[in-house]
Amino acid sequence: MKGRAGTSRRLYRRAEKIFPGGVNSPVRYYAPYPLYMSGGTGSSIRDADGRVYTDYLLAYGPLILGHSHPRVVRAVSRVMEEGIMFGAPAAGEVELGEIISGSCRSVEQLRLVPSGSEATMHALRLAMLHTGRRKILKLRGGYHGTNSLALDPAAAREVEFNSVAQAERELKKGEYAAFILEPAMGNCGLVLPEDGYLQAVRDATEKSGTVMIADEVITGFRTGFGAYSEAMGVMPDLLTFGKIVGGGLPLAAFGGRRDMMKHVRPAGSFQQAGTYAAHPVSVAAGLETLRILSSSDYTRLEECSRIAALELAKTGLTVNSSTGMLSIFFTGDPVRNGGSAMAVGGEPFFRLFKAMLEEGIYLPPSQQELIFISFAHRKADVRRHFRTMAEAAASMAGRGRGLKV
Ligand code: PMP
Repeated sequence: MKGRAGTSRRLYRRAEKIFPGGVNSPVRYYAPYPLYMSGGTGSSIRDADGRVYTDYLLAYGPLILGHSHPRVVRAVSRVMEEGIMFGAPAAGEVELGEIISGSCRSVEQLRLVPSGSEATMHALRLAMLHTGRRKILKLRGGYHGTNSLALDPAAAREVEFNSVAQAERELKKGEYAAFILEPAMGNCGLVLPEDGYLQAVRDATEKSGTVMIADEVITGFRTGFGAYSEAMGVMPDLLTFGKIVGGGLPLAAFGGRRDMMKHVRPAGSFQQAGTYAAHPVSVAAGLETLRILSSSDYTRLEECSRIAALELAKTGLTVNSSTGMLSIFFTGDPVRNGGSAMAVGGEPFFRLFKAMLEEGIYLPPSQQELIFISFAHRKADVRRHFRTMAEAAASMAGRGRGLKV
C-alpha cells in the first residue's frame, strides 16, 4: 500500500506542543521524531504513511502471538458487545486467575491490576507490610516500572546481577523487606541468570527473612507456559506479571504465597483497589492469549530465536538470547550483569535500528530494550532478516570484512 510521506513528522510537530518530548512514554521517542504506527497484522506493522515493516519490537513484549491475532480480536469484540465494564466481578477474571495460578506453583493467590508498574508497587508494599521493613534491594540496571518505591534511590539499594557474593553480603544485614529482580534482566538488554544464581538468591532471601519478588512482567509466559523463575527451579515468595498475560491490553498481576496475599483487602487490611482492575476487555484478551499459548509449541519459538541468535553471533559481537527474546551488544566481551550491559555504548545499535527501518525491519530503538520474536514470525523470514541485521551490525562495528561463518 502506498501512502503519503511525512505523516509522522507532521503528527510529531503537533504532539511535541502538547506532550512532554512529544510522546506518552519516553522509550517511544527517538531522533528526530518517531514513526507513528497505524496498523499491524501477524508479524507486520504499518506506519502512518502505509509503509510495512516486520516487527521485532512487538509493543515491548505483550504481542507473543503477533498483532491482532484473529481469536484474540474476536474474543475482545464479543466482550465489548456485551458491555465494556461493570465495576463488579465478571466470569472471565476467574478463569484467567485460575490459569495463571494453575500454571505457576508459587502463585497461590493473585490480584489482577492494570499495569506492571502497579503490580510491582503492590508487591513491594506488601513485602514491607509483611516484614515490617522499609528498604528494598534491587539489581543494577533492573526496571520495575514507574512506581515510586522502585525508582527511589533512597529506598532501593542495588547489587549486580549474577553476583552471589554481593547478594549474600547485602541480604545478611537482615534489613531489606524485599529483593526484587527480573529473573532474566530485560531492561538493559537481555542478561540471563548464570547457573545457581537464582537458587542462591532464593536461599539467601529465605535465610534473612527477605521477600523474594520475581518481576516476570517480561519473562512470564515468554519462554514457556508459566513463570521463568519456576522453570529455573526457584519458587519466589511473590511474582509480578504483565505484558503477555494481558494479550496486548492493559493488564498485569501480582501474586504468590497465600499467607502474604491474605493481607490484601477485603481479606486483610492492605489497600489495593482499582477502577480498571481486571477490566473485562483486557481479561478477554489475556484469557484468549493464554488459552492459545497453553496449546502452543514453544519449541517453535525457541527454534526461531536460535536461528536469529546464530545469525547475529556471526558478527563476533555479544549476543544474549532465550526463547522469543534476544539482544545484540556492540562489544565482544560477555554481558553478564547490568553494569556491563550499561557500559556498552548505545549509539551503534541506534544506527542499526535506523538502517533496519530502511530494510523494512522494525527493531527497538534502544539497545536497552529487547528484540522480541512472536509465534507469528516465520523461520525463513527470521533467518533472512537477522542475516541482513548481522551484516549491517558487523560493518557498523568495524567488522565489515565479512562475518564469521
Ligand atoms: N517490570 C518490568 C520487568 C518491565 O519490563 C516493565 C515494563 N517494561 C514493568 C515492570 C512496568 O510495566 P508497565 O509498563 O506495564 O507499567
